[in-house]
Parts: sequence; C-alpha cells; structure tokens
Amino acid sequence: MRTPIIAGNWKMNKNPEETQAFLDGVKGKLPDSSKVQTVIAAPAIDLFTLVEGAKDQPLQTAAENCYFEDEGAFTGETSPKALKEMGLDYVVIGHSERRGYFHETDQDINKKAKAIFKNGLLPIICCGESLEQREAGQTNDWVASQVDAALAGLTAEQVKVSVIAYEPIWAIGTGKTATADQAQEVVAHIRKTVAKLYDEATADAVRILYGGSVKPSNVKELMGKEDIDGGLVGGASMDPESFIALANYQ
Ligand code: PGA
Repeated sequence: MRTPIIAGNWKMNKNPEETQAFLDGVKGKLPDSSKVQTVIAAPAIDLFTLVEGAKDQPLQTAAENCYFEDEGAFTGETSPKALKEMGLDYVVIGHSERRGYFHETDQDINKKAKAIFKNGLLPIICCGESLEQREAGQTNDWVASQVDAALAGLTAEQVKVSVIAYEPIWAIGTGKTATADQAQEVVAHIRKTVAKLYDEATADAVRILYGGSVKPSNVKELMGKEDIDGGLVGGASMDPESFIALANYQ
C-alpha cells in the first residue's frame, strides 16, 4: 500500500514571515502522516522557517531545486548537502518552470537526483508534456523518456522511495486540470515505464503524483484513480485552509 502524498509547491511566493503564518495556520489540522503524508516545497529563503515550524507537526519539507555539487564556486546555487544538514526531507527537481525558464536538461535532472540520494534526501521528480505534444499524440513517449533519463543509474531501492510528479504543462497555473481519466492514463504509463526499467515491485512502490490546477474541489476525484498517489499543488497550496482541505481529502 502506497501512502498518499499531498505536496504544496509555493514556487517564488511567500517570505519567512508569511511562511510562519502558514505554519501557524495549519498547526493541529494536518492528517496523521501514516494516513496522508503532507509536504511543503518552499523557496530557499523560507526553508529555515519551514523546517523549524514543521518539527512539531506531521509535515515534511522540500526545497524547490538544488545543485548537483555539494559545495564550491557556484554562485547563487543551493547545495544538497547543506539542505540535508538543515533538516530537509525532499527536493523537487525538473519542474517544467525550471526546464523552461532556466533551461534545465534531463541530464542536469539526473545529476541532481543522484546528488540528492548521495546526501540522504529524496527527490520529487517532475515530468510532463506541452499542449502541442499532447495534441500530436506524443504524451506517453515524451513523459516516459523524461522518466527514463531522470532515473538513469539509480538503483531499484532508490526508485522505490522516489516520488514522481506528472504535471502536464498546459494544466499548470491555468485552472485547466487534466481530467482524472487523462491523469490516470499517463500516471499508469509512467508506472509501466518504471516496471520496464526496473521490475514490478519497484513500479508498485514508487509514488506518482498528479499536478496541474489541483484544488480542494477536484482532489478527491483525482485521488480516486488507481495509480494516482497524490498531488503536487501550486496555487491551492498557499492558503492554510485550502491546504488543510487538500490534505484531508479522505
Ligand atoms: P498549480 O501548479 O497547482 O498552480 O497548477 C502546480 C505545479 O506547478 O506544481
């Protein structure tokens, strides 16, 4: 049985004070982590506040990106080693905004995945197609190639504890959610891809989220689908009441 995950992705929103207000707002209202695991991914500037405030509640923490070297002359980058030392649990990698605006390649994402495991963190690996790719019927092949490249060289044991997030680019921040059936179809294809690359046990264990305009009103239907293990939520994760509603979708 895979434990569901509701993960917020704040993107470049909130300062430390607003982070603290969110943490105070959700306190005592998040589900037990054995039922639904909750995670917040926050900007680097908020991570200290986030980690401190998550210590006494069932909330895990994520950075939205990291570099693949532990230290050195890489101005402006964030070290996975330092994130681990700070107490983070996860790092989101390969978000379509990073691939698009910051030109991250599949190879960069694979290097980051390896650096994340080397440092005892866990990756939330994003993938997803553009509208043109969907309309051209390329979705499954494209997403499978992104997953294949991101996981290259990882062991089955590492993949079992990884999280993959399927986020169709056309559904992110647009209010246009993939239907639950569309999301299920691609998520099932990702699971099949993992089975082909590794084995059935690995494919059964890896948790695969859907992301793209998830909100309290559609989370239940999405979560009702066999292969969808959770949501990676942008806009609807920033307000405490909305995040509480998402986390308690059951
Ligand atoms: P959205 O963002 O929920 O605002 O569509 C999702 C994401 O980019 O992770």
